[in-house]
Amino acid sequence: MDATEQRLRREQRSKKVALDSLETPALPAPKQQKWTIENSEELYRIQGWGDPYFSINAAGHITVSPQADRGGSLDLFELVESLKQRNLSLPILIRFSDILEDRIERLNACFSKAIARYNYDGVYRGVFPVKCNQQRHLVEDLVRFGKPHQFGLEAGSKAELLIALATLNTPGSLLVCNGYKDREYVETAMLGQRIGQLPIIVLEQVEEVELAIEASRHLGIRPILGVRAKLSNKGVGRWGGSAGDRAKFGLTILEILNVVERLKQADMLDCLQLLHFHIGSQISAISVVKDALREACQVYVELASLGANMQYLDVGGGLGVDYDGSKTNFYASKNYSTQNYANDVVAEVKEACKARELPVPTLISESGRAIASHQSVLVFDVLGTSSVPTENTIEPPSEEEHAIVQELYETYQGIHLNNYQEAYNDAIQFKDEAISLFNFGYLRLTDRAKIERLFWACCRKIQDIVRNEEYVPDDLEDLDRMMASIYYINMSVFQSVPDTWAIDQLFPIMPIHRLNEEPTCRGTLADLTCDSDGKIDQFIDLRDVKHVMELHSLKPAEPYYLGLFLGGAYQEIMGSLHNLFGDTNTVHIHLTPKGYQIEHVVKGDTMKEVLSYVQYDSEDLIENIRRRTEQALQDRRITLQESQLLLQHYEHSMSRYTYLSP
Ligand SMILES: *Cc1c(COP(=O)(O)O)cnc(C)c1O
Repeated sequence: MDATEQRLRREQRSKKVALDSLETPALPAPKQQKWTIENSEELYRIQGWGDPYFSINAAGHITVSPQADRGGSLDLFELVESLKQRNLSLPILIRFSDILEDRIERLNACFSKAIARYNYDGVYRGVFPVKCNQQRHLVEDLVRFGKPHQFGLEAGSKAELLIALATLNTPGSLLVCNGYKDREYVETAMLGQRIGQLPIIVLEQVEEVELAIEASRHLGIRPILGVRAKLSNKGVGRWGGSAGDRAKFGLTILEILNVVERLKQADMLDCLQLLHFHIGSQISAISVVKDALREACQVYVELASLGANMQYLDVGGGLGVDYDGSKTNFYASKNYSTQNYANDVVAEVKEACKARELPVPTLISESGRAIASHQSVLVFDVLGTSSVPTENTIEPPSEEEHAIVQELYETYQGIHLNNYQEAYNDAIQFKDEAISLFNFGYLRLTDRAKIERLFWACCRKIQDIVRNEEYVPDDLEDLDRMMASIYYINMSVFQSVPDTWAIDQLFPIMPIHRLNEEPTCRGTLADLTCDSDGKIDQFIDLRDVKHVMELHSLKPAEPYYLGLFLGGAYQEIMGSLHNLFGDTNTVHIHLTPKGYQIEHVVKGDTMKEVLSYVQYDSEDLIENIRRRTEQALQDRRITLQESQLLLQHYEHSMSRYTYLSP
């Protein structure tokens, strides 16, 4: 191997995924003065999405104030370090139960305020939709924190009904029963009355009215019934399909009238006490909420005038979360506050009832996302990066070099402010030509490597110019994405943030330390799975979405931690075992006057557990390997030592976390 070839090999390796290459080349020296935490605050928009729970301290670490302005705070970076000392490896899902409590307090306070402000002669009795996060500790906490407000639960399936019936123990709180129902579901819900629950069975399908009538007769129980209306007002955004005439759930006006008729015949019209609607999740525009409310209020008063014993109006979910902190009606944001929302609900319902001289109903909302999102933070580490080659100086090619190398070098040399777009197009053309030449056998591998190196050098030079330009031509917009480094992260997108992949949901992601240092690199994130969808390349931005994010260059032998925030709703329970990466370690942190306390540790899946989900028995697998090594020993293909090492690794791995440990 000659020197050139050796260099070439080195280069090729460095271009590939070098998980061990810890040094990320930095961008050209920053022009501004010393980077401060205020710069980081602005860059990562932490106040927009994180207030009042997350901020940055003087050490450049993220701090968490789980009790918002009512209590102390803790340093997230130090917390992670101390969890690691307790032998909990990353990725770790950290839950702050105090945040959950604060969310419930806030929602109830907003409704109380609105009720006082509009002299509303009724109460608010919220319920938490269990589907939003079914983890036992969380649901139990929720019920406990919700006690002072008689906060209840909403079940959307038979399994969730089982959870709710056993967990809810607050006198006077409601248990709203939604979803597809069979006879057993309906009877179980009705029998809930006998053990002190207040179940409300919401009819969502035409057939369910017969089930309810029969079950009621059979059990001799008079249930509280509700109807879910299909409103013609559709929600917007990706969940818009939950409402409207063709929605999967709910009854049309015609069907509701049939239900009223049937209940009247069965002498059960007094059981019909609730109207429910749900126009979808993450409603970004308050106008959509208002339109739906107006329509639902009219249905409500009409039902009352038809003789139903109306007592409750359930406005469903939809209360949004401002993931990008922009306060806009962009899908990852919302243009209203929880107080605006509560005010609109209360005012609209009061108005409609007043016009018909009806008593106002008890108000119910099924806000899931708004309650559960903020309470958990997923912290994961970066294992390594890979970047395009970034030499700042390129040696001129010698006379004998291939003409195309000479030409591309000239292009590189000639890049300046007035011709960068032309130069960019030339560079692309030369690179493409070089590849054709190579494919036809006219270019040596070493020449092709030189072309690549020159091409990236051109791109970098152009990028430096473009960064300072106000206007960037369209064809150069991809440059940042093309030049971005890849940060390899120790987690599985499919397991921990499936929504980013399944529905392009945006979550705020940022480093949890080094925030007093300028992040000089631009990168996208790639996870441990070998699936090309296992990546994150959409990030929050004030306007629209960013495709690369600002990150720090890695320092040798120093960990680099990123946090993913606001992922506590839906995400956590939808994860799939992609490449058999299982559940992450989870800890529950509760603030105490002296600091914090770890309430629960839920260990993530081990290999053995994950394998058993797909019907492998770890003992069988180990036995299989043992037999094979035995055979190999006899055939002298393996030494005794090697065979023992293999078995040791194999057995040890079985009981280990599915993620990588350093
Ligand atoms: C999913 C769902 C909710 C929760 O919606 P959020 O937007 O998370 O508040 C409430 N009610 C029903 C019927 C749902 O299907």
